[in-house]
Amino acid sequence: MREWFARQIILPQVGEEGQQRLAETRVLVVGCGALGTHTAEALLRAGVRHLVLVDRDVVEVHNLHRVALFTPKDLGRPKAEVAREKLLALDPAAQVEAHVVHLDGAVAEELVPHVDLVVDGLDNLETRYVVNDACVKHEKPWVYTAVLATYGMLMPIWPGRGPCLRCLFPNPPAPGSVPTCAEAGILGPVPKALAALQAAAALRLLLRGPDAPLGILLHLDLWNLRTHTVEVKRNPACPTCVDRVFSFLQEGSRSAILCGDTVQILPRSKIALDLGDLARRLSPLGRVELRHGLLVAEIEGVSVTVFPDGRALVKGVGDPRRAQALYDQYVAR
Ligand SMILES: [Zn+2]
Repeated sequence: MREWFARQIILPQVGEEGQQRLAETRVLVVGCGALGTHTAEALLRAGVRHLVLVDRDVVEVHNLHRVALFTPKDLGRPKAEVAREKLLALDPAAQVEAHVVHLDGAVAEELVPHVDLVVDGLDNLETRYVVNDACVKHEKPWVYTAVLATYGMLMPIWPGRGPCLRCLFPNPPAPGSVPTCAEAGILGPVPKALAALQAAAALRLLLRGPDAPLGILLHLDLWNLRTHTVEVKRNPACPTCVDRVFSFLQEGSRSAILCGDTVQILPRSKIALDLGDLARRLSPLGRVELRHGLLVAEIEGVSVTVFPDGRALVKGVGDPRRAQALYDQYVAR
């Protein structure tokens, strides 16, 4: 294994000791789309041997133009599980956990305390506030990274030592006011470029600790080949990192619009669904298939993918209330 890292160990910034430290750290990757999986792969190749992957979604054909780890064979399978499999093929001795769940406050509280750092592979700002709350509460460094269209941005965060996400953006935007990648599009190589910057930021935080550069928001436009940085200061009135009020860790709404016309519905309480039983119940209503441990049903002209934990993705319906009604009627009350 030492041979694998030989070119990195000779860097004075890493060395034997730094490489050893990387091997002992645990990194949580929140979101396993292009940004998250490219970051995870870069970290694994650089010597981070413990990765915890979280993603709520399944691989779809429109992911393939930008995600190197996914192939057409993976369509319909949970992204976190596909990523785990591909990363283990690269390094079978690594420890890679996959959690096919929505990262809400409870999941963040369960996972964040057990890692050394969190990286961002998310496609929505809402969940980033949950990550920020959990990281500030448990004093874990994290890297905020976002991509859209032809550009992306990034800011490394060390709670208590530099600004947090909420110092930068005090309040979440109104629902629907920020375009998603389904509306604005995404240029294939953009997430990979930002993932490389994110992996480098993560290594810097892991190896340099709070002495790594903080309070710098980097913006990179890959179409016009422009970068700029903005100095971000800690907000002395920040509700999260100054007042330590972690409101985003509280229970949120049960429905959320994902990228495009997909709505995610969460069960009212923690449940374990018998998908075979549900398939039998739904089969008179339309086409029902059990595949890769998930149930996919076509009901009333929309596609519903149900996970064993009771979570569902309702596709082809823009209105979260209709999605919620379909879920309550057919999946679970
Ligand atoms: Zn703050």
